[in-house]
Amino acid sequence: MLRVIPKRNRVVVEGVNMRTRHQRPSQANPEGGIVTFEAPIDASNVMLVCPHCKGPARVRRRHDADGTLERLCVRCSTPIPVAEG
Ligand SMILES: [Zn+2]
Repeated sequence: MLRVIPKRNRVVVEGVNMRTRHQRPSQANPEGGIVTFEAPIDASNVMLVCPHCKGPARVRRRHDADGTLERLCVRCSTPIPVAEG
């Protein structure tokens, strides 16, 4: 995940939804030419990949014994820690 835009419920994912822009030469880019970049997509179109069953996973939230919110894979019930990268 390259970037998250919570206010607009959108995310930018590396290599997903690439856009091409044809640009004339400018100060910032004296060569001009064709620039590719990732455009944001809606967060609802993104799924978490479970590190345990290695697939796209729906998740369930649950409070564990000491009251901490944890995230479980619906398929294999393994807790998935929030975020790395
Ligand atoms: Zn799983």
